[in-house]
Amino acid sequence: MFVEGSAAGLRADEFVLSNLSPSVAQKRFALGVVLVLLVVFIIVAGPLSGLPLRRVDAFIPAYGTAIFLIDSITAALLFAQFSVLRSHALLALANGYFLTALLAIPWTLTFPGVLAPEGGLGGGLQSTVWLYVLSHAGFALFAIVYTLLKDADPMEALPPRSIRARVLTTVGSVAALVCCATVFVTAGHAFLPRIMLDTAEVSYLWYFVVGPMAGLFVVALVLLWLRHRSVLDLWLMLVLFAYIIEISLTAFPIPYRFSVGWYAGRVYGVFSGSFVLVTLMKEVTMLYGELLRAVVGQRREREVRLLTGDAVAATVAHEIKQPLSAMTMDASASLRWLDRATPNIDEAKAALQQIVNNGHRMGAVIDNIRTLFKTEARIRTSLDVNNLIREALALVRYDLQTHRVAVQTDYNQSLPLIEGNEVQLQQVLVNLITNAIDSMAATEDGDRVLSLRSKVYDSSCLMVAVEDVGKGVEPSAIDLIFKPQFTTKVNGMGMGLSICRSIIEAHGGQLWVTANLPRGAIFHFTLPAHRQH
Ligand code: ADP
Repeated sequence: MFVEGSAAGLRADEFVLSNLSPSVAQKRFALGVVLVLLVVFIIVAGPLSGLPLRRVDAFIPAYGTAIFLIDSITAALLFAQFSVLRSHALLALANGYFLTALLAIPWTLTFPGVLAPEGGLGGGLQSTVWLYVLSHAGFALFAIVYTLLKDADPMEALPPRSIRARVLTTVGSVAALVCCATVFVTAGHAFLPRIMLDTAEVSYLWYFVVGPMAGLFVVALVLLWLRHRSVLDLWLMLVLFAYIIEISLTAFPIPYRFSVGWYAGRVYGVFSGSFVLVTLMKEVTMLYGELLRAVVGQRREREVRLLTGDAVAATVAHEIKQPLSAMTMDASASLRWLDRATPNIDEAKAALQQIVNNGHRMGAVIDNIRTLFKTEARIRTSLDVNNLIREALALVRYDLQTHRVAVQTDYNQSLPLIEGNEVQLQQVLVNLITNAIDSMAATEDGDRVLSLRSKVYDSSCLMVAVEDVGKGVEPSAIDLIFKPQFTTKVNGMGMGLSICRSIIEAHGGQLWVTANLPRGAIFHFTLPAHRQH
C-alpha cells in the first residue's frame, strides 16, 4: 500500500529511509565507522580495559537520560515511518527502541548509589544488571524480528485509526513488559542468579549470560547482512556491531564497573543508539528539503506556464491587430470604390488584393507565433533585407497615409544576403515602423518623417535603422521598453519590442535604441550576413 503524493504523483515509499538504497558514499562511511569502532575497541580492550577509574556519580543518570532520549526519539520516528509504510518490520524495530528507552529508566534508578547504596526502587545488587540483559536481549530479538519481516509484503491498507490502534497496542504491551520486569527484578532481586558480587565486581556467572547475549546480536547481524537492502538496514547493522563491541567490553579482559572498559562500553552504547537517530534525522531533513524544492519548482513551473500563456495571448492579439485593421480599411476602401456612380473596379480589386495579402500574412503570423513558443527549428531562407523593408512599408502604407507620415529610404545596394525567417523579420520591421508612426502621431510638432536605412555594419553584419521624429524614448525607459508588458500606450500590450528583441537575438543580431536629435528615436538592429558555402 502506497501513499500517493498529491499532484506530483510521487510515491511516499520512495522517500523513506527504510526503502532507499544506500549510496556508495554511505556504504563507505559505514565501513569507516566500523573500522574506527574496531580500532578503539582494540585499544580499549587491551591492558587499559581493567584500569579502574574514579566513579563519577553524575555519569549514570546522564547516561540513562541520554539513552532514554535517543531511543525514544528514534522509536517515535520509526513509528512515524510505520504509519506511512504500514510494515510489520518497522513496527517491531520501533518497539525495540521503545523497549530500550523505557528500560533505561529503571536501569538508572536501580543502579547502586543513584537512589540507594545497593540499588533504588526496592531493588538490590542484581536488579540493574538483569535490566541491562533484558534491554539488550530484547533489542536483539526485535532486530531479528525486523530482519525476518522486512521483505514480507507491507500490510494491507489500514485506516488511520487501525494504525494508531496497532501502535498503541504494541507500545502498551512493551510498557507492561517493562513494568513487570522492573517489579520482578526489584521485588524479587533475592531470587535472581548472583552476577554482581558487590556494587562494582562481577562473578564468573556473567560469562554465561554475556555469551548468549552476544550470540543473539551476532545472529541478528548475520541475518541482516544476508538480507540488507536499504539505508536503514545499513545503519542498523552498524548499531548491532556497536552493541557486540559494547557487550564484549563488559566481559573482556576484566569485567569491572567504572573501569576504562566499562566507561568505553557505555560510550559505545550511546553511539549505537545514535546511529539510526542521526541518520533518520539527516535523511528526514534532506528529504524534507528535496520535497520543498520539488514543491517550489512545481509552483515556479506553474507560474512560468501562466506567464507563457499570458505572453502567447498578448502576442497573438498584438500581432494580428495591425493586419486586421489594415484589412478593415482595405475592405471599406474597396466598398467606396464600388459604391461610386461609376465604380472603379481596378482600385477596388487592388484593395481586395491587399486584403488577400494581409489575410495570408495573418495566417503566417499565427503560424509563426506558434513556432515562437516552440523549440522546434524555424524555417530559414536566404533573404534580401532591402526587400523585407519594402514589403513591410507596403504592409503599413494605410497607417502611413492616415497619419500623414512621409517616408525616406536609404538602401545600401551592396548589402549582403542574410539567412532568417521571413515572417519573423517582417514582424520586427512592421513593429518598429508602427511604433514610429504611433510616436509621431502622438506629437503635433513639425513634419512627420520616417526614415529607413540599411547599411553594412562591420565586415560580417548589416544594420537597419528605423528613425522617427516623434516623442522619443525617456532615458530612464531605454531598458524598460524591451521588457514584456511595458507600455505607455492606452491600448498597448508592451509585447512588440520584447518579441522583436528575441527574434533578432535568435537570428544572432542585436536590437537597441538611441535618441534621434533633436527629437525622436532610432531603433537599430544588426543581422549577421549569410555565409556563402
Ligand atoms: P506597445 O507598442 O504595445 O506599447 P512595444 O513593446 O512595441 O509595445 O513598445 C513598448 C513601449 O516602448 C511603448 O509603449 C513606447 O512607450 C515605447 N516605444 C516604442 N517605440 C517607440 C518609439 N519609436 N518612440 C518612442 N517610444 C517608443
